[in-house]
Amino acid sequence: MVVWTQRDRVTRARAGVLEFLLLNHPLDCPICDSAGQCALQDRAFDCGVTATRSREPRRALEKRVPLSPTLMLDREHCILCRRCVSFCHHISGSGELGIFERGDRSLVDVFPGREVDDPYSMNLVDLCPTGAITSRDARSDVRPWDLRAIPSVCGGCARGCNVYLDVADGRVQRCRPRRNDAVNQSWMCDYGRRSFTAVERPDRLARAQVRGEDGALHAVPLDEALAEAARRLRALADAKGAGVIAGVASPHASNEDLLCFWRLLEELGTESAGVAVRRGESDEILICAERAANAAGALMLGFVDARPLVERIQGGGVDGLLVSGHELLDESYLGDAALLGKLDSVILLDTHQSPLLRVAHVVLPVRHLAEKEGLVTNAEGRVQRLRRAVEARPGVLDEGELLYRLARELGLEGFDVEYSLDAVSASLADSLNERASG
Ligand code: SF4
Ligand code: SF4
Repeated sequence: MVVWTQRDRVTRARAGVLEFLLLNHPLDCPICDSAGQCALQDRAFDCGVTATRSREPRRALEKRVPLSPTLMLDREHCILCRRCVSFCHHISGSGELGIFERGDRSLVDVFPGREVDDPYSMNLVDLCPTGAITSRDARSDVRPWDLRAIPSVCGGCARGCNVYLDVADGRVQRCRPRRNDAVNQSWMCDYGRRSFTAVERPDRLARAQVRGEDGALHAVPLDEALAEAARRLRALADAKGAGVIAGVASPHASNEDLLCFWRLLEELGTESAGVAVRRGESDEILICAERAANAAGALMLGFVDARPLVERIQGGGVDGLLVSGHELLDESYLGDAALLGKLDSVILLDTHQSPLLRVAHVVLPVRHLAEKEGLVTNAEGRVQRLRRAVEARPGVLDEGELLYRLARELGLEGFDVEYSLDAVSASLADSLNERASG
């Protein structure tokens, strides 16, 4: 069979269909949220539809119909393509949307007494070919042509959905799925889509801090904080042996960060290297139980689940803790930061404030996934690349670089040249092969 898609007859037929679709369309492109990313606008442009022959008044319909707390429907923009209805029935399986009435009175709507309520509902914004379904969070805030799309990976769970982070004015404005049939097809969940808002949250850690003699944390230059962290770890290792020092890595860290963490602990002489992973419900579509991008990477590099380590801490077998992230606070691990209160030294690396600040002696701020380059490994063992979408605040570094500088401060072997992400990346494969063969 041969299908001609570009012949004159085909183009004329297509233009005729578009003329029908546009009969009642409001043609308010200059103020429509989807202008610049609208399939209807693009097809009209392709077919050269520049004018209408209709002299009849256009159908006036409701412009703001809330479908859910996150979604708004503009009925005038709807071309009744039924993609949203199909998605709810065949992909998310929630089935709240339908086409009601008949003929030229047909309307998309939710079934009576329901709202669009499923963890994948915001995919409707992406798949609606016009500006009919929009996100209530992001209505009229930024024009699509002002956005720069940075390909990266969602850090919300171990699926590692491929995403674009849309950036404008130095901020991540939106997160949307990037097609990868081997990972997430064309979808992502609403939780992951909103997780990028953590980059700008007011509780981000921005300065290195050290606990002073008055018992309070004080902001200090980064070098001073690293020197204090090294002094505390060295004093403990010299007095009691490195065995009383333990490390708990973050499952949000990249493989490069984790490799630096592992090497620091190894050179220091401690074998207590755990990772704490928060868990939740999984589903059969995308959402994985492990709520972090790189739990699998941590396990592959040799970190073990931190529960036995938590028991050692509770039993008094640990005096110094190097901890990255605040997953240890999960009920399935420590639950309460106060349990670390009796430790001699707690060195914390984190992106955001948490109750761990109450017990930390040194606090080192680290970059969010949207601010860094590196590799993460998803639940199926697929290694994927993070791309930096926005710059971190000055002085906020990758965990890997901070740990590398801390290891240099400690005088550990193998950390004598300047930190280089490329060099750490290059040695990752060797380390993984060593672990696989050993
Ligand atoms: S996807 Fe958009 S244009 Fe298509 S039927 Fe749904 S609301 Fe209308
Ligand atoms: S399923 Fe997981 S990785 Fe995918 S968007 Fe949701 S939280 Fe992110």
